[in-house]
Amino acid sequence: MGLYDLHQTNQIRKTRAMVNSASDDMLAAKRQTNYELDGVDQRIERLTLICEAMWQLVCETTGLTDEHLAYKLDQLDVSDGRRDMKRQKTSTPCSCGAMVPAKSLLCQFCGAEPPPRSVFDTI
Ligand SMILES: [Zn+2]
Repeated sequence: MGLYDLHQTNQIRKTRAMVNSASDDMLAAKRQTNYELDGVDQRIERLTLICEAMWQLVCETTGLTDEHLAYKLDQLDVSDGRRDMKRQKTSTPCSCGAMVPAKSLLCQFCGAEPPPRSVFDTI
């Protein structure tokens, strides 16, 4: 085995080690992502259960029905211009004239707090 072959073998070994290390990092990231998604699934299931319990209490105490809920859901759904079972969060105008994205806490142009908006727009 010549000096060049020895060098090549060493380079291949280093490259394999780097690939294995990157693969291990990817597996660890995948495990972490799956762990986080499991937490999100559990939170969604819990929120669904809480919403259902609250709705049943509302029905029992007010006389509202599932039809009332379906009507209101449809109203909210189409309020953003699209019937897609989502409500797009809307931007709000700042006193400087810029539009502040719904999730922004401050105006990106002047730094002022945007006018009050629905708590659901801040989620
Ligand atoms: Zn502003």
